[in-house]
Amino acid sequence: LTQLFRPLDMLGTVYRTIRQGLIDMAEMFRLMDTDVEVRDAPGAPALVIARPSVAFEDVVFGYEPDRTILHGLSFEVPAGQHFAIVGPSGAGKSTIARLLFRFYDPQSGRILIDGQDIRAVTQASLRAQIGIVPQDSVLFNESIGYNIAYGRDCASAADVEAAAQGAALMGLIERLPQGFDTEVGERGLKLSGGEKQRVAIARTLVKNPPILLLDEATSALDTRTEQDILATLHRVSANRTSISIAHRLSTVADADRILVLQDGRLAESGSHAALLRRDGLYAEMWARQAADAEELGEAAE
Ligand code: ATP
Repeated sequence: LTQLFRPLDMLGTVYRTIRQGLIDMAEMFRLMDTDVEVRDAPGAPALVIARPSVAFEDVVFGYEPDRTILHGLSFEVPAGQHFAIVGPSGAGKSTIARLLFRFYDPQSGRILIDGQDIRAVTQASLRAQIGIVPQDSVLFNESIGYNIAYGRDCASAADVEAAAQGAALMGLIERLPQGFDTEVGERGLKLSGGEKQRVAIARTLVKNPPILLLDEATSALDTRTEQDILATLHRVSANRTSISIAHRLSTVADADRILVLQDGRLAESGSHAALLRRDGLYAEMWARQAADAEELGEAAE
């Protein structure tokens, strides 16, 4: 009887693993919807990056024909800089990330990486060069080492350890009974939100991409964990071009430039200090978040 159940049990594990993997992807990009829409151009070459700049040129996009989400958006992130995208809920921030990863194509306008239209290159080569740290990473029911190595097929044990170090995960791993071989996920050790994000960062480090897309957690991490993760992300973003999609402003104040999106248009852009001086939408959002934080602080006392 056990013999009969073992394959069934394995099937269950495979099913859960696949399902979890898909949830992970679908959450950010709705992969299933979009994979059919975007195809490689016949004979498309690979994306070759010398200087990883990212440019949106007059990009118009809507998920449905009669509802435009991005209305002619233009911006350029120079190679090596860190940009943040902020704005009210529904402004189109995550849509920018989905377009950059080419899960959808714009209705008009172009998206360029190092001067190459992303529609003209293979999707595999495009996605290989962009590392994503999603809001909520779902882990596979596998070892923590496997979960980190998932960023690249041929990662060596040394690569995995270096990535864990870079993501400040070694402290945790050293405390685990079986180190890198400890099973994590639904059926293994449950990791906290902050630890899961570190695994996602380590995965990205293994992949070692020139461009990083950080979709910040909306689920509140406690302030200390958030600060720690931010410091780690900072280190990881050095020498790469990075774009953070931020739901809270406290995390983006030191970006090279902040793009303030409103209803799919660029309402303002500039450094944190310049935007505060401008006393527009960003300054208003900043004041509101500060007031909310104060209220929360008072409530906690
Ligand atoms: P938030 O801060 O709440 O995450 P956001 O600025 O990232 O918001 P987007 O996720 O880019 O906003 O969504 C922009 C608009 O596009 C929203 O009105 C949303 O309802 C719509 N939208 C997003 N995904 C789809 C989809 N797959 N199909 C149809 N409409 C969508």
